[in-house]
Amino acid sequence: MNLVKASQHLYLVVEMASKLVLPFSCILFLASFMLPVLSHLQDPHLLANTRSGNGGFLKAMQGCRKGDTVKGIRNLKLYLAHYGYLNYQKNPNVTDLEEDHFDEELEAAVKSYQVYYHLNATGTLDGSTVSQMVMPRCGYHDKETHQHTHSSLHIVSRYQFFPGSPKWTRRQLTYGFGPLFPTQFIPPVDQAFGKWDAASGYFTFSRATSYEGADLKITFERVDHRDGSPFDGSGGVLAHAFSPQDGRLHFDADERWAIGAVPNAFDMESVALHEIGHLLGLGHSQFQSAIMWSSFSAGVTKGLSSDDIEGLRALYGS
Ligand SMILES: [Zn+2]
Ligand SMILES: [Zn+2]
Repeated sequence: MNLVKASQHLYLVVEMASKLVLPFSCILFLASFMLPVLSHLQDPHLLANTRSGNGGFLKAMQGCRKGDTVKGIRNLKLYLAHYGYLNYQKNPNVTDLEEDHFDEELEAAVKSYQVYYHLNATGTLDGSTVSQMVMPRCGYHDKETHQHTHSSLHIVSRYQFFPGSPKWTRRQLTYGFGPLFPTQFIPPVDQAFGKWDAASGYFTFSRATSYEGADLKITFERVDHRDGSPFDGSGGVLAHAFSPQDGRLHFDADERWAIGAVPNAFDMESVALHEIGHLLGLGHSQFQSAIMWSSFSAGVTKGLSSDDIEGLRALYGS
């Protein structure tokens, strides 16, 4: 598949008024619709229906198209809204029936999703679209749809930055592990930092003498850990990180982690590479081989690509 379209070297950056420091809830199935940016979606009842984490609600709706009214379509709307494809705002006056209606707006959102993921833009919830939606992926949105007084469109066909392009102002950063971080997974995270260090030619990463004093704080967390993006147990959110200069990186303690390609487990180093990309200011890439591609599979390893390095260099001018 030719992913490198002419437009992929073009990007559109419109500055936002506000600098967002949002968690990138990374590498998930279909969970955590709790990002602060979508505060209008924070209806506990709706969220409860969409946080099963296994994508079952999507599989049940396969084949749905415009005009259909099927129970659960509102969860599809929440899903697409969460990832930035639909400005779906739950209106308390709207009945459940209307919420479960596959309307024109939803069709446009499905098409937009399909284009993003290099699928046929049919606008229907076909098999390949459902297959993509149930892939492990990052919980942070692919596109900016939330409204600001200044236009917030910020789309890059390949690498992306966070809205407002926040970045670090120092080249030497320290990282530290929380007291409950499993020691066997420290070496693969060290490796991930080493790879970014070598590839960037810009940053130098070193272990901090204390966790509290580290620029980048890495911890294992479980379910609601009070940062607005609760993990959802096994099969859901695997990890997330915050944009510069927050520095927090959380791995979901309920996931099955591994060192290297182990069936049904996620490679710690690969996921760390993705999350460190977020810590440094990279968003998601539409380039499938990039570490910043939003989906990630169990049982595989992945490394940095030229797209990731180009993104970092574009952000820091190195
Ligand atoms: Zn991510
Ligand atoms: Zn967290």
